[in-house]
Amino acid sequence: MYDPDLLRDVDRLHLSTTPTTTPPDPTADDEHVARQLNLEEYTQTGDLITCACCWDDLAWEDMVACRAGHLFCTACLARVVQEAVFGQQAAALVTDGPAADGVACFHSDGCSATFDDASVARAVAAYERDQKRERAAAARTQPPAAAGD
Ligand SMILES: [Zn+2]
Ligand SMILES: [Zn+2]
Repeated sequence: MYDPDLLRDVDRLHLSTTPTTTPPDPTADDEHVARQLNLEEYTQTGDLITCACCWDDLAWEDMVACRAGHLFCTACLARVVQEAVFGQQAAALVTDGPAADGVACFHSDGCSATFDDASVARAVAAYERDQKRERAAAARTQPPAAAGD
């Protein structure tokens, strides 16, 4: 029979040797780490930009601007682009109308400017990259499929 006090001590000893910080994920891509570091730096210097849609504070490289200068995060623009694509497809079924001449600004002031193609492409690329990373992370946390027995 073990002495319960001794067991507690052993437990405590075990706890004290457990590292409190998780080691960096070796599979995390360098760019993501760099972006995180940038974000921390910007947070410290107060050099963040607020998205006019979701009000998140983000680093400059995560932002896009409409031609009138309204700033949004790439995630919001990507979401609007996706909705616009689905909307156009739905509208085309009914009216076969003209394609939109760019993604319109969605600022609450009712801005009529659009985003240039480069900004849209950047937002969509960032969105797809995040989706890919999320899928990869989800795949890592799920147990591997049973390979027969
Ligand atoms: Zn946003
Ligand atoms: Zn605008």
